[in-house]
Amino acid sequence: MRVLFSAPKSDWNDYRDVLTNALERAGIKAEIVYAIMPDDPGSIDYIIYAPSSEMEDFTPFTGAKAVLNLWAGVEGLVTNASLTQPLARMVDPGLTEGMVEWCTAHTLRHHLGTDRDVCRQNDSWDFYVPKLARDRSVTVLGMGTLGRAVGTSLAALNFQVTGWSRTLKDVAGVACLAGEEGLAKALTSAEILILLLPLTKATENVINAERLQLLPKGAVLINPGRGPLINDDDLIAALASGQLSHATLDVFREEPLPEGHVFWANEKITVTPHVASATRASSAVDVLVENIRRGEAGQPFLHLVDRSQGY
Ligand code: NAP
Repeated sequence: MRVLFSAPKSDWNDYRDVLTNALERAGIKAEIVYAIMPDDPGSIDYIIYAPSSEMEDFTPFTGAKAVLNLWAGVEGLVTNASLTQPLARMVDPGLTEGMVEWCTAHTLRHHLGTDRDVCRQNDSWDFYVPKLARDRSVTVLGMGTLGRAVGTSLAALNFQVTGWSRTLKDVAGVACLAGEEGLAKALTSAEILILLLPLTKATENVINAERLQLLPKGAVLINPGRGPLINDDDLIAALASGQLSHATLDVFREEPLPEGHVFWANEKITVTPHVASATRASSAVDVLVENIRRGEAGQPFLHLVDRSQGY
């Protein structure tokens, strides 16, 4: 069996040994090929793929049984007409753990007012009793792999967590909502709003002026999802009016965020360079190998993308 690893060299360096070992452990005999376009592409059985790969034409891979994405986000792949093979997205326990840590850190930073409390010499020495998490409501948009894990962890810290998704979910400790009416309700209570939706036709600009107006005055927005989920002009206006007190943004319409972009100079915006969470080779290889094992055993693949929904 032949497996093509189609990703930048840095990924190959991270995966080469751990992937070889994981395939061996699973008793799967495979030749792993690292190339932009291999010799005899029709003989490739599986393509492990990063959307940052230089290869974008899947047409020559006539024998490929699946494309196994290294990223959770697939917005750049679902529009690729040459990709007709089954497409699995990455669901990696390491990535999920990292996202929980990042979202918890930024939620706690805003909940506790950590920036405000850091004292310099001659600053006023104000004592006050901060709100506890039990009195703070957080809404997570997207109750998928990442949103569910983040919501559950914040609920374990006693935050009042609301979660919103396309189809109604049942998540312990999280008040789950769905649909347009559910979104309005989820936003109305969101002192801290976290976006963990995929980017699709239906979610682009989901956060616009009208929806920002539903938030409690002075709410905080945290976006580790995708940049185009937010209408940027409406975000700037909401920060200027005080409707939003702060936005922590990890993802942008253009990355890296261009020099001179208005976000850089806005003191109410924290920019992080798309670091919320990454796929970890050490845990991701088990997911890749399990899907290859399933493919060879004629079993259904895990984490298949529904192209009609775009995620
Ligand atoms: P997922 O498991 O596919 O979950 C997506 C969630 O969004 C699901 O709950 C889904 O609802 C909901 N959703 C999709 N379209 C919707 C719509 N139109 N209305 C309401 N809800 C909708 O995805 P995931 O693994 O949690 O990842 C989420 C996103 O995080 C990725 O797509 C990626 O953009 C982003 N991400 C960012 C980083 C980073 O470092 N910044 C890292 C990894 C991932 P249903 O449950 O009803 O299907």
